[in-house]
Amino acid sequence: MGLENSFSNPWITTKVDSLVAWGRKYALWPLPFGTACCAVEFMGVVGPRYDISRFGAELVRFSPRQADMLLVMGTITQKMAPILRQVYDQMPNPKWVISMGACASSGGFYDNYSVVQGIDEIVPVDIYVAGCPPRPENVIGAVYKLQNKISHEKVADWG
Ligand code: SF4
Repeated sequence: MGLENSFSNPWITTKVDSLVAWGRKYALWPLPFGTACCAVEFMGVVGPRYDISRFGAELVRFSPRQADMLLVMGTITQKMAPILRQVYDQMPNPKWVISMGACASSGGFYDNYSVVQGIDEIVPVDIYVAGCPPRPENVIGAVYKLQNKISHEKVADWG
């Protein structure tokens, strides 16, 4: 978007893609899929100290039909994998996924037959957050990176 004129004659020109992406990136509705300790760290992210509402992502939803940003936090076992996929499928488009922490991103230190070795085997991941657990600043950084990604997406991409 570009401001094309002064305040004495205010008007702007932009593309529909840019305008919609701008609205989308500042109105993310998170769905926490927390299974372990990383989920506790997420409580700090949405608390007043870190204040994720500065980024327009404070409306935590517990229904996939009302959310567009899935945050997977913690160990995902093979038995949970179909449930995670079902939750993802229930979210309307457009939707994005953040994998928070070592366990969600790679299985962490649970390198065994019962644990999914990275949720990208189950759902497409947009942003990975390193750490065990990641600090709230890292999660906020991930939201910021996701916003940048969204601002380059087009309405046609969102199906
Ligand atoms: S990455 Fe670390 S803090 Fe997060 S769920 Fe796994 S063990 Fe817990």
